[in-house]
Amino acid sequence: LFLCFNAAFAKADYVKYKDPKQPLNARIKDLMGRMTLEEKIGQMTQIEKKLASPEIMKNSFIGSVLSGGGSVPGPKASAESWVNMVNELQKGAISSRLGIPMIYGIDAVHGHNNVYNATIFPHNVGLGVTRDPELLKRIGAATALEVRATGIPYAFAPCIAVCRDPRWGRCYESYSEDHKIVQSMTEIIPGLQGDLPSNSRKGIPFVAGKTKVAACAKHFVGDGGTTRGIDENNTVIDYKGLLNIHMPAYLDSIRKGVATVMVSYSSWNGDKMHANKDLVTGFLKNKLKFRGFVISDWQGIDRITDPPHSNYPLSVQQGVLAGIDMIMLPENFQEFIDDLTTQVKNNIIPMSRIDDAVRRILRVKFVMGLFENPIADNSFANHLGSQEHRELAREAVRKSLVLLKNGKSPNRPLLPLSKKAPKILVVGSHADNLGYQCGGWTIEWQGVQGNDLTVGTTILSAVKKTVDPSTQVVYSENPDTNFVKTNKFSYAVVVVGEVPYAEMFGDSTNLTITETGQNAIKNVCGAVKCVVVVVSGRPVVIEPYVAQIDALVAAWLPGTEGQGVADVLFGDYGFTGKLARTWFRRVDQLPMNVGDSHYDPLFAFGFGLTTKYVTTIFKNIGFEYLIITMKFNMEN
Ligand code: BGC
Repeated sequence: LFLCFNAAFAKADYVKYKDPKQPLNARIKDLMGRMTLEEKIGQMTQIEKKLASPEIMKNSFIGSVLSGGGSVPGPKASAESWVNMVNELQKGAISSRLGIPMIYGIDAVHGHNNVYNATIFPHNVGLGVTRDPELLKRIGAATALEVRATGIPYAFAPCIAVCRDPRWGRCYESYSEDHKIVQSMTEIIPGLQGDLPSNSRKGIPFVAGKTKVAACAKHFVGDGGTTRGIDENNTVIDYKGLLNIHMPAYLDSIRKGVATVMVSYSSWNGDKMHANKDLVTGFLKNKLKFRGFVISDWQGIDRITDPPHSNYPLSVQQGVLAGIDMIMLPENFQEFIDDLTTQVKNNIIPMSRIDDAVRRILRVKFVMGLFENPIADNSFANHLGSQEHRELAREAVRKSLVLLKNGKSPNRPLLPLSKKAPKILVVGSHADNLGYQCGGWTIEWQGVQGNDLTVGTTILSAVKKTVDPSTQVVYSENPDTNFVKTNKFSYAVVVVGEVPYAEMFGDSTNLTITETGQNAIKNVCGAVKCVVVVVSGRPVVIEPYVAQIDALVAAWLPGTEGQGVADVLFGDYGFTGKLARTWFRRVDQLPMNVGDSHYDPLFAFGFGLTTKYVTTIFKNIGFEYLIITMKFNMEN
């Protein structure tokens, strides 16, 4: 009798959705059957960490929190303090009636870029150059570990925009102007999330446990195609063009089990994507069978109206009816909850739409094991900025460089540079500036200047580490010609480029490098042999200087591991990168992409000289004298 009683009691206590042995759909169904409208709408709500507290998480049933740039828990916070912050909020969430865990998301877009001492990989504009999906997968895996090291299970990456106009201030977040390259780079998704099991059903999200994070393909769709590259603007293209250029990478992402998709601020032929039911529900969810959740962009639904937030109930209605499941709303989340509740009660938004949204959010949370392991521990802390990850980033830097010119005549190349020159000059605003190297989205969202930003190696310090101890390295940000001539330098490394920017501040109509950079080229190149290294988020106006320059290298935004630049400049590795973007001559040619009838680039898409053969000889024979006589250029 006692045993029977015990069994009956255990059965009464049994909660199906908490049982990991139950099939996924059974768990979702069971949990949804227990949820109130308030709890469901809470799941659809994502709030900014600065507004979050354990009490709010619990009492408002908040489904998600994000770090929207900026330095909380502090500019140089340790992994442990991040873990503690996330866990505090999670404890609030799971102490709610049904104990549903929240999912914390962050923009880890080139490594874990909000966090001090994380490994910062090259921005996507450089990674596209590598054309190396397997490398992207390894970068995804490393990023996932570093994100998990701070207790976070969700990254708003990758950006799979196909940037068609470098005037766009987010062009550096795009792998290429060519959709095929962008498609192949989605291999970062299995790196972030893990390999999809062979028996998985199309569209079902997949995240392989505690060492991986949920990814987010963004921004759906056409973000890189706006007129004149104006951020958040209108993408004017016919349906076929949209499908052929901007959509293919979403197909790949879904095939690889991407957990979430973020909607674009931009419009397509005048219609805001945040209100576009045909594409979000009709195409993404129904046709492509995407079963993860769709998240809005930051206050994206507010911007459905012009001016933003001028009719919030309408924004909520149109955004949710379009098919957005989770709303990123940093300001007044209670307003969102109230507006949505009212509209559901008044049958303006059907309950079935709410259920669809919640089902998708819970699916991701169940699949990734958040119910079983909501609380993070510190066991991954040693992955943050680990030597192994820094080596990987250094490899990525090497492979992202493009050699655009090498020598004033083909038989007199300047690169690889000699390590044994008696005295060399390093010049330029970008030679010794970690902030400039990293670009936007690094620690501070727009990117900041200076070497105190985080831990890493600038190009100047990398050059110093690479040359022979007998070589004197002189650094001057912007020397005059006389100084250069009288000092008898063997050669100069001139590092110039753009000052970091992010969305809203990055659109440009002139695409020039800084004035100090221009002066550095003018004053130095010609007075001594020079290699110009361009640090930028996109091709920039360089044609006026090319004749004066001996060698020209595009380094994009390499991140913390500047050593990768020196590795290749000095011939320890060869140049292998090929342009994944067209390098224009003049801004008035834009937009200009490979295949266009008016195509007249300075350096064409796919161009890139190589010094690989030389390096092989160097490595095998080991005499520098031989290199100097044998080095030559190979095109493509
Ligand atoms: C950006 C997104 C980003 C989000 C959250 C938005 O402004 O467009 O790419 O994921 O902010 O930080």
